[in-house]
Amino acid sequence: MPTPLTFDALKQQVIDGTVDTVLVCLVDMQGRLMGKRFHAQNFVDSAWEETHACNYLLATDLEMATPDGYASTSWQSGYGDYVMKPDLTTLRPMPWLEGTVMVLCDLLDHHTHEEVPHSPRAILKRQIARLEAMGLTAMMATELEFFLFEDSFDAIRKRDFRDLAPISGYNEDYHILQTTKEEGVMRPLRNHLVAAGVPVENTKGEAETGQEELNIRYAEALACADHHTIAKHATKEIAWQNGRAASFLAKWHKDKVGSAAHIHQSLWRDGEPVFFDPDADLGMSETMRHYCAGLIEYAGQATYFLAPYINSYKRFAPGTFAPTKTIWSVDNRTAGFRLCADGTKGVRMECRIGGSDLNPYLALAAQLAAGMAGIAQKLTLPPPTTGDIYQSSDAPEIPRTLRDAAEALTGSAMLREAMGDDVIDHYTRAATWEIEEFDRTVTDYEVARGFERA
Ligand code: ADP
Repeated sequence: MPTPLTFDALKQQVIDGTVDTVLVCLVDMQGRLMGKRFHAQNFVDSAWEETHACNYLLATDLEMATPDGYASTSWQSGYGDYVMKPDLTTLRPMPWLEGTVMVLCDLLDHHTHEEVPHSPRAILKRQIARLEAMGLTAMMATELEFFLFEDSFDAIRKRDFRDLAPISGYNEDYHILQTTKEEGVMRPLRNHLVAAGVPVENTKGEAETGQEELNIRYAEALACADHHTIAKHATKEIAWQNGRAASFLAKWHKDKVGSAAHIHQSLWRDGEPVFFDPDADLGMSETMRHYCAGLIEYAGQATYFLAPYINSYKRFAPGTFAPTKTIWSVDNRTAGFRLCADGTKGVRMECRIGGSDLNPYLALAAQLAAGMAGIAQKLTLPPPTTGDIYQSSDAPEIPRTLRDAAEALTGSAMLREAMGDDVIDHYTRAATWEIEEFDRTVTDYEVARGFERA
């Protein structure tokens, strides 16, 4: 689906005075929009060709710290610039902000103008190119789950993230009555996103107090990741405009279920779904079986890209609809992978491992790399598992901690071949930094537990 704004139309809107601001954005390692707010006149006159940003933006954590250990940049190398190259095909209005449009950029080396390999968009584009070389296109969708809270981000931060009150008082899964009370945020979110060219299918209440789900129609992989990123950003901004907070933390309370970002995926050739074979069991073609075998074989190695923080691993708890095992099933929500729409042209695999805190470019790239490895190696798909998979003791586990996932990432010959050593070393450093920071931290839990009684 093309975005609803061309560069020529933008030039006219600048002349008309309907647009005065262009957000020129890159996507950082955490999947956030970072960049600059351009006066629209300056953008259409010159910045549309390129602008610049400090290269530390692909070497920071959520707090904008500057950890050592990255080969690409450091204090030693002086933290130079990257070129931000606007991808004008991503130009779109941001109707929830007055007179404002946005564009996503690719990141290029300042001197060689080569694409920066560890940029999330570049990582996904590389996997898409590998797939294209096989004559295939990936159609993907991510489901965004998040929690809405009664108060604003600013009020919550000022009271140290304590006494968090979700927007509803009860589990609102599929509830129409409760979600009517949340339309102040959710209705503009749906409508503004559609006007921005993000094809929203629906929103619904999810299975916890204050939990929401936003579903976007499947699209080619890069567009899917762009949609996810813009939708997540819009959710936070529109919540903020309404005096509310929206959190994509994977697990914000130990007694509440976590939030996921399930990934639906299918492969196509010349507009036809190659995952579908009407004569095969469950309608799953040989190609689909090999692809899914790759997803399962390499699930542990890909988990870091689905669960990038210490907190992400708190979500994998039995009895919460979050998976604990890297096996597949037919329409069974206790498995890491769930076959959807079996026997139909829409047959696809849903990966349920990813949390709402994932970076969609990295997550989709890791899924495609694993699936392509499955096809290349003609891996055999084991039979589907049935019943309560939480109780299935011999099934392989999803890595239990970020430490385990980081080890699987750095040791992954498959991901190193698919993405390059530099990329894997870069994200291994991002993972070990998260672990080091957490290991240094004294948590509320430790103080409350031991202050008097230890
Ligand atoms: P469920 O509610 O069972 O999870 P939905 O019908 O709501 O499933 O679809 C979930 C997501 O899957 C939607 O975002 C939809 O666009 C996407 N989807 C549908 N068909 C395909 C397909 N062939 N390939 C990839 N994604 C798909």
